Amino acid sequence: MSTPNRVLITGAASGIGNACVRLFNDQGYIVLGMDLNSPDDDSLFAGFEQGDVTDGPAIDHVINAFEIPTKGLDALVHCAGMTGHGSATEIDPAFWSKILNVNLTSTFLITRAVIPHMQLNGGGSIVTIGSTFSMIARDSMIGYAVSKAGVAHLTRCLAIDYAKDNIRANCVCPGLIDTPMTSHLNAPGHEDVRQTLINAHPMKRPGTAEEVANAIAFLSSDAASYITGQVIGVDGGFTAGKQVVPEARH
Ligand code: NAP
Repeated sequence: MSTPNRVLITGAASGIGNACVRLFNDQGYIVLGMDLNSPDDDSLFAGFEQGDVTDGPAIDHVINAFEIPTKGLDALVHCAGMTGHGSATEIDPAFWSKILNVNLTSTFLITRAVIPHMQLNGGGSIVTIGSTFSMIARDSMIGYAVSKAGVAHLTRCLAIDYAKDNIRANCVCPGLIDTPMTSHLNAPGHEDVRQTLINAHPMKRPGTAEEVANAIAFLSSDAASYITGQVIGVDGGFTAGKQVVPEARH
């Protein structure tokens, strides 16, 4: 019998990361998690560490706590992230730095920390999380959109640099997904905004964290052994194109 694969999932206490924890667990992986917060159910983890993915020493601590130098790591799923609104003149430099740090620099820090161990291990898979706004711009979200565009391009760079080491890197780009990150849209008074966002998705519904986790698990598996450097929407068609008014169909 072969040894189960070991996966490190960040943002593991909530939303898409937590759905990955459940799915990878079901698929027999040894699941290691990191998040700012502790998870509701720690029985799903072979190891869990509270920590900040923007903090290099905290990442080093996690690498050592999970004995990655000796036991290796087959897959990284980097889900930790934040969102935030505002155009260039509405946000301040401190917010810009923060969102770039949490979404983009953390991706640089954690991937550069795990890659040497994957190289020694004979390869591995990295899945980063972008957004539909990795691929297209959106109004009033400059920090988020630019950070996620950076994540997509960083992932392509990783794929090219480390293909020689049998390390694959792909970026999953969710559309509107019902998670704690988007739960403010369910608050009274936000119905119109939520519906407008839903309507922008050709499938006319939000996605679930499980639907995103399914794509992440596929990309992390040997079934995706020839897929690397890809930026893949899980977005109900959001990035496929613009819908024109139905009356214009003739
Ligand atoms: P979520 O439910 O808020 O989960 C994200 C988790 O990451 C939270 O537990 C969060 O803690 C944690 N986290 C944030 N900053 C961290 C840090 N510096 N160090 C360690 N952990 C940190 O969000 P989600 O919807 O699952 O989002 C997961 C990823 O998908 C994010 O990168 C997000 O941008 C992306 N995404 C989500 C959607 C969507 O519609 N939900 C769409 C496109 C892309 P706190 O709660 O304390 O911040």
